[in-house]
Parts: sequence; C-alpha cells; structure tokens
Amino acid sequence: MTAPRIALIAHDKKKDDMIALAGQYADFLRGCKLTATGTTGGRLVTELGLTVDRKHSGPLGGDLQIGALLVEDMIDAVIFLRDPMTPQPHEPDINALVRACDVHDVACATNVATAHLVLSQLQAAGTQP
Ligand code: PGA
Repeated sequence: MTAPRIALIAHDKKKDDMIALAGQYADFLRGCKLTATGTTGGRLVTELGLTVDRKHSGPLGGDLQIGALLVEDMIDAVIFLRDPMTPQPHEPDINALVRACDVHDVACATNVATAHLVLSQLQAAGTQP
C-alpha cells in the first residue's frame, strides 16, 4: 500500500489537541505524506519531529491550497480540527475546503473523535497483509 497522504489543519484553540492527537499516531504519521497549514505544520515539525509539507497559514490561503490539492486527487484524508466557538476571518475558505472534501468524497474529520476513527482505520489498513 502506498503511503497515505494526509492533510492536517487546526484552528488556534485546537492546536494543542492536534499535537496530542498526532503524537499518539506519530509512528504511523512518520510513514505518511503529510501536508499542513503553516502554523499547524510548524508545530508538528518542531514538537513532534514530523516531516510536513507546509502551506500558507489558513487565514492567508492555506486551506485553499490544501483544497486545491485534494481536488487534484493528491490528498487521501483531511484532519481539520475546527474551532466551532470562535469566528474565523477565513470562514469562506474553511467552508470551501469542507465542501471540496464532500464533492470529491475525501474523508474529512473535523473533531478529535472522528480523527481517531480515520487515523486508526488508515493505520490498520497499512498493517494488513
Ligand atoms: P494555521 O492555519 O495552521 O496556519 O494556523 C489553520 C487555519 O486557521 O485554518
């Protein structure tokens, strides 16, 4: 099986959750091709030592860059820890990314519970003979 291509994005109040989540799957994620928005990706690199293709920060177009990749069939799953309690300046970009996932039938986990289901399933698929 080829390495899963996973996009990781977390809003500011969800970044600690993203680091904790990615830390739990660090061994698996090391074998994946990771893309992230700028600030999220920076933390994944410095705090977990993951190799990440960092795009622009979300509010500067990073969500749109990741959306464009998945439209081109270059992303297999998106872990997008959104903050539902804080208005975001780039709300249209966020909606565009989630919509693109639905249009192209790409798995999109927008909370930690769903992210566990997606990552554990991808991990298990990779260990099957
Ligand atoms: P960031 O972008 O990782 O650069 O903070 C995430 C977002 O706000 O969409």
